Amino acid sequence: MKVLAATNNAGKLKELRRILERMGHTVTSPRELGLNLDPEETGTTFAENARIKAEAFCRATGLPTVADDSGLCVDALDGAPGVYSARYCGHHGDDAANNRKLAAEMANVPEGRRAARFVSAVCVLLPGGTCHIFTGECPGRIGFEERGENGFGYDPLFIPDAVGLPDGSTAPNTRGRTYAELADGEKDAISHRGRAMAAMAQALPDILAEA
Ligand code: IMP
Repeated sequence: MKVLAATNNAGKLKELRRILERMGHTVTSPRELGLNLDPEETGTTFAENARIKAEAFCRATGLPTVADDSGLCVDALDGAPGVYSARYCGHHGDDAANNRKLAAEMANVPEGRRAARFVSAVCVLLPGGTCHIFTGECPGRIGFEERGENGFGYDPLFIPDAVGLPDGSTAPNTRGRTYAELADGEKDAISHRGRAMAAMAQALPDILAEA
């Protein structure tokens, strides 16, 4: 199926594309379609915002659309930055400034109280109006300093509890590697987005049959 990955975030697009292509779909992006659309994320939950994005992009293109809204929820910060993850530093999409702020907020929080989880809500919207939301979570903790070069966003500060193995299974993250220190497959197998997309893949045949 040809699907639109409804995001303007290059890091997120890369992940959505590789996960969807691995599932056998053909992926296009707003940029490839010359589409300049930035819907306001007015929802208070990841699911609401995923739906807002999917509806805007599906309406504009008429294509089956997959949108992800995601973020990092830190226990010691009462769940912040949460749905405001992309604009935690005060403006939108500045990963370096977001990471600096998170590291500063967490500087005096001791090991053992640094639990966090990444959350993803993936919305699949078909042009006929069929809409389904899938969620995925990845538990972990916040590191004391940034490590690793891969990925995007808060990846250098997030240490997942588990990592993916080449055979598709998972193992405890005994070396305490950050998301940014994982290879693509090691992250996708345990990541919030990978888990939401796996749930989507499982349900997709029924969704398409019903549409
Ligand atoms: P939005 O879903 O486009 O509103 O933005 C989500 C924000 O959460 C991104 O800008 C990142 O800061 C963060 N985020 C979401 N998923 C990831 C991830 O896999 N790694 C690192 N940061 C992420």
